[in-house]
Amino acid sequence: MSVSLPGRKTKIVCTIGPASRNKPILSKMIISGMNVARLNFSHADLAEHEENIHRIKGLSASLGIPVSILADLPGPKIRIGRLEGGSCVLEKGKTVVLTIHDEIGSSSLIPVAFGGFIENLHKGSRVFLNDGFIQLKVLHKTAEQAVCRVIMGGKLLSNKGMNLPDARLNINPVTDKDLEFVRFGLEVGVDMFSVSFVKSPDDIMKVKRFASSLGKEAFVVAKIERKEALEQIDAILDAADALMIARGDLGVEIPIEKVPVVQKQLTLKANYRARPVITATQMLESMTANTRPTRAEVTDVANAILDGTDAVMLSEETAIGSYPVESLRMLVKIAQMTEKNRGGVAAGMSIPSAIRHELERSGASIGDALSLNVVNTLHMLNIRFILVPTQTGATARRISRFKGGAWIIALCSNEAALRSLNLSYGILPVMADPDGSDEQFIGYLKEQGLARPEDTLLMVSALPFGGVGKENSLKIIKLD
Ligand code: PEP
Repeated sequence: MSVSLPGRKTKIVCTIGPASRNKPILSKMIISGMNVARLNFSHADLAEHEENIHRIKGLSASLGIPVSILADLPGPKIRIGRLEGGSCVLEKGKTVVLTIHDEIGSSSLIPVAFGGFIENLHKGSRVFLNDGFIQLKVLHKTAEQAVCRVIMGGKLLSNKGMNLPDARLNINPVTDKDLEFVRFGLEVGVDMFSVSFVKSPDDIMKVKRFASSLGKEAFVVAKIERKEALEQIDAILDAADALMIARGDLGVEIPIEKVPVVQKQLTLKANYRARPVITATQMLESMTANTRPTRAEVTDVANAILDGTDAVMLSEETAIGSYPVESLRMLVKIAQMTEKNRGGVAAGMSIPSAIRHELERSGASIGDALSLNVVNTLHMLNIRFILVPTQTGATARRISRFKGGAWIIALCSNEAALRSLNLSYGILPVMADPDGSDEQFIGYLKEQGLARPEDTLLMVSALPFGGVGKENSLKIIKLD
């Protein structure tokens, strides 16, 4: 398969839904730069997910553009049920009844598809709907319903999430239903799973252990959206393969004004541990209904990139919005412009020194030292490509975390590594013979028209594959 360099290094995750699941839109999205398709298992049934997966895989193969598939496990998220006509408007000051019964809802009665929610409410409790856009206060309750006052009104869609910020729910983040989704996903070729409402590393390990009980491996993304996760973030990062900053729920579970600082802290921690990080939710929210984003949204996306995110994610914009392809193309444009200028702004320049500082403080491995040397060399020589033969993707990810200016060509010995690297900044993963020689790899780069005469390349090897500390080498190769 011939490869060409994408116009930007930031990876893009798009949520697939009714607005984007038809083949013409999907192919436009693949051509426009979707690296990872996210299927939200809170919505749609398995037959629809399976059909989506086949469509995406089929189009990706026929277009010759790799797209990875992320299954987002719903976890124990409390959701409202169906509303008549799919939506209703809640007006400030009116009363609305939350019921445990599975009825079709309206602006005066909302079914909640989680029986246990009533026990966690008491007079005065706050109930947030749709990531806190709508807020209710409980007036009184019985065992089957809670009568609430609308404090902040707005339009509510069927199946939207509910948060109870005054309750400490003792529920397991990985449900039996999630594990059934993992089984299904592994059978139909899902590449990564995101675990919602992670509280501890055990939640990640539960999914990994379940996959290995089926003789498979799961690449697991920890969705950070609870206060409890922040308390155990280092251990969660050690257990997980990647991180998602799920700002929708996070902005309800912690005070919303804390989100920007927490986002920056999580990004640095993930970079330091060489875990790809996805910044999610409301990135271009206004493009759900408009052809242009707000200045604040554009700045938010650019800042996430400058701070070191690997990937940016679209949710409603591509799942149910009116402009899914335009939203994606807008992300591409913002990423291109921001990356081009990251060397000239403080946030962009500070990533390598922030990671180096962390590594010096907490102790670096041989692999860390190797990756630091790569970054130092990049800065001294005008390097365009770093060649990295890799089996698990770990060596390539350790280099990617610095968000340097050169492309990392990850020469992958297996499909799973290739697909997982679709989430990492600045990595172009390609399949290659693990026993190939340096000459063969360089020959490949020339054949693809990527390397030019006089180019200086880096070749980074950490052998044996996947291990650290045996034969690590950094070669500087000047082409004729
Ligand atoms: C979020 O809360 O930001 C998020 C990504 O999760 P979901 O879309 O599943 O609510």
